[in-house]
Amino acid sequence: MSTWHECVQRSGSLPEWPYPIDYDKENEVVTDVMVIGGGVAGLQAAVNAARMGVKVAVLERGHAKRSGAGGAGVDHWHGAVTNPCSKVTPEMYTNACYESMRGWTGGHVRYIITRESWDTLLECEKMGVQIRDVRDEFKRAEFRDDRTKLMFAYDYRSRHVIRVWGYNIKVKLYEEAKRLGVNIFNRMMPTSLLTSGGKQGRRVIGATAVNTRTGEFYVFRSKATVIATGGAGRLFDFSPEVTSSSSMGNMNSSGAGEALGWKAGAELVCMEGSGPGRLSGYAYAPYSMANAHNTYHGTPIVDAEGKEVPWVDAFNRPIKDQPGRFLPSEGQNFILGEGIGISRYLEQFRNNDLTHDLPERIRRGEFKLPLYADLTRLTEAERRCIFGMMVGNEGKTRVPIYDTMTKAGFDPDKDLFQAPVTLPEGYAHSNFWSTGVNTPPTIRSLGGGGFLVDWDLKTNLEGLYIGAGGNLFGGGCHGESHTTGRYAGRHAAAYSRSAPEPVADAKQIKKEKESAYHATQQSKKGNGWKEINAAIARIMRDYCGQYKNEQTLNLGLRLLGELKSTELASAYASNPHELGRLLECHSIITVGELVMKASLQRKASNSILNFQRLDFPAVDPPEWNKLLPIRQEDNKVKIRELQLDFHLKAPYVSSYEENYQKHCMK
Ligand SMILES: Cc1cc2nc3c(=O)[nH]c(=O)nc-3n(C[C@H](O)[C@H](O)[C@H](O)COP(=O)(O)OP(=O)(O)OC[C@H]3O[C@@H](n4cnc5c(N)ncnc54)[C@H](O)[C@@H]3O)c2cc1C
Repeated sequence: MSTWHECVQRSGSLPEWPYPIDYDKENEVVTDVMVIGGGVAGLQAAVNAARMGVKVAVLERGHAKRSGAGGAGVDHWHGAVTNPCSKVTPEMYTNACYESMRGWTGGHVRYIITRESWDTLLECEKMGVQIRDVRDEFKRAEFRDDRTKLMFAYDYRSRHVIRVWGYNIKVKLYEEAKRLGVNIFNRMMPTSLLTSGGKQGRRVIGATAVNTRTGEFYVFRSKATVIATGGAGRLFDFSPEVTSSSSMGNMNSSGAGEALGWKAGAELVCMEGSGPGRLSGYAYAPYSMANAHNTYHGTPIVDAEGKEVPWVDAFNRPIKDQPGRFLPSEGQNFILGEGIGISRYLEQFRNNDLTHDLPERIRRGEFKLPLYADLTRLTEAERRCIFGMMVGNEGKTRVPIYDTMTKAGFDPDKDLFQAPVTLPEGYAHSNFWSTGVNTPPTIRSLGGGGFLVDWDLKTNLEGLYIGAGGNLFGGGCHGESHTTGRYAGRHAAAYSRSAPEPVADAKQIKKEKESAYHATQQSKKGNGWKEINAAIARIMRDYCGQYKNEQTLNLGLRLLGELKSTELASAYASNPHELGRLLECHSIITVGELVMKASLQRKASNSILNFQRLDFPAVDPPEWNKLLPIRQEDNKVKIRELQLDFHLKAPYVSSYEENYQKHCMK
């Protein structure tokens, strides 16, 4: 196999487009359930729908074998509270998330996750994912249950976050989907959801898409649809050379799912929420530098002279010994653990952490830079578990971090591992590699919002379900995405069994096809997709950044509209790949407009949504303590008000478990 450089040097020119292009060719796929997005949530939806005996198609932007934020693996699985060692119940966990967020998260989605997360993990085990210490590598370790051989993270007493050997999880799911006969269409860029009669707000009956290798057009007709496309990573920043779509995200995350749903009339909520872009690519590759967070929780951090940084509990009391870093302290029932899609923790559930005054102590000279992770100070089991089992299975760290460092001679038994050298403020959070001080302060990422769903994980549109981490109100991370995908797949399949045949509207298809190829017919002098994406991100940063007001938001909307009708309308795609990327720009603009429109509706600042309106500076005024679901009807914005605890109000009942039993389809 030759490298890109060898290929160019050998031929003296850039290679030809390697696939036959046929923009005119139209393919039709008829299925019972269509899943858009073949990440971990999407493949779970597909597998679980297929298990119910219906015909399933997956439409994936990349290649479903390894695509998505979870494609490279996972090392710890959250929310498995029904595992045999757990001391936490679904109610306890759900209430902890809900109360920590003061209600600004979908409690019903959280409950579904905690009810089914462990069952979902057991199914992954059956597919060939190692979830137990079957080789007895960590026998008698504090974090291991010797009977079940399960291993836990964060809170060794409550035992609900499970350490897993998940490097192959996506491959195993993919193989299972193939085994069950799921029809996977890779390299597809969807351009619209088809609706009954081609009308906004009506039943979803399929999608149109373009293949980004052959350029062929696809019409999918489906009785039920699941959206599982992950987040909208390229909205506020775009600089792929430094993986600025977010080092934690994936280049294909263009908010396509939200854009498709919004255009079809689906309701979304809290889209005005955002947070600092701490995980954007301006920092370091995930987990590539010393830190004491997440995968590295509990790791001793020392300064240049070997002086150890102290740990504190959730109430800011010193933690005396190493085992204390992994246990709830006095006043805590259990620790929730981080990376579960919530931005705020009540002290009762918060993690133990490095001392919070580390930045001041560095400034005073008490700790000298650089800092290092000193894994030698851990017990042997902890050390091998963190730099070995966990870094060796964490998404994106197995090869670039674990393999590279190990081959270069790094030995955690003897060597120190350096943290980035940065401003003292960069050590305010133990996640040093994603430090906010390296990211321009204007860069943000969406946070907390997504599709509003009911207890079936169904949207307001008939036939449309959501399975996801990022774009589901109440969603979380890896295990949460599998679990909601699994649940949404079941419901979509059940609905498809009795749903009428999907009859597509010919006019809608014709219109979509014409607009899909627009960029291939423009002048070669037109802009390319990268310029357009960069312009969108600039507009979002400037007009819908951390601080905004009615004027900036309206100006931003005007600029996005102008960008659409000028530079984007005349942008040129020279091959199906560029066409796909330009179609993504349409999605990104749509999501940007949606965010600005949602931001205009909330006339108050909100601390949980990290939402600051300069013209409405009062933070969290009680009269704005309500959700504002947003959708389109006849292309006009429609807003309604909804109580935060709507999921426990009529037509539902007031108990999580009763609602779950009524809807879980078991
Ligand atoms: C480095 C890293 C480490 C992580 N570690 C952990 C961990 O240890 N524990 C944990 O709980 N979480 C972890 N996470 C988070 C976790 O991986 C994500 O929350 C999870 O993968 C989200 O699943 P998803 O299926 O919703 O989205 P994704 O996994 O992102 O999948 C979305 C899929 O949709 C596809 N797609 C996107 N756009 C389109 C489109 N237009 N058309 C068709 N398909 C499209 C994508 O190609 C992708 O396959 C980690 C993430 C990263 C990046």
